[in-house]
Amino acid sequence: MKLRIAGLTKESVVDGPGIRFVVFVQGCPHRCPGCHNPETLDFAGGEEITVDELFAQIRDTRLLQGVTFSGGEPFAQAAALACLGKKVKELGLDIVTYSGYTFEELLDMAEKNQEVRDLLEVSDLLVDGPYLAEERDLSVAFRGSRNQRILSVAESLKAKRAVEAVL
Ligand code: SF4
Repeated sequence: MKLRIAGLTKESVVDGPGIRFVVFVQGCPHRCPGCHNPETLDFAGGEEITVDELFAQIRDTRLLQGVTFSGGEPFAQAAALACLGKKVKELGLDIVTYSGYTFEELLDMAEKNQEVRDLLEVSDLLVDGPYLAEERDLSVAFRGSRNQRILSVAESLKAKRAVEAVL
């Protein structure tokens, strides 16, 4: 199984709690005005990598708390990321997933799309919602704009409503 990625960061401290391996996927349907990663929008851009190759790189990186799926739009490649996420969880690492969709939109999508559900279920935290330039705030942890929320996915799925995580 393959993923199309824009790039990788092996040791980030700004994309979720602790030291994280970040996978920036390539391709995004959202077109947020003022998008902070415009080079990741084109679904034909970036480069392909197999899930197995990416997993090997993560496994060989020391001192990680977890892996972050960012973009681009991770839910546009939900099957491959869910597959990678399951393997990563077996290493004892956690998963943070960013999305330009809101949790409520993803919950609707998950009713018809098992891959979306799988990626939600493998994610510990979801940073949701589009980047809104008018809500831009550099002081909010791990987010670009104030409308974005950091959600506990397990609690949100259980409650069927967005439940903010306590970090
Ligand atoms: S969701 Fe992220 S990558 Fe996609 S357009 Fe919005 S800011 Fe850019």
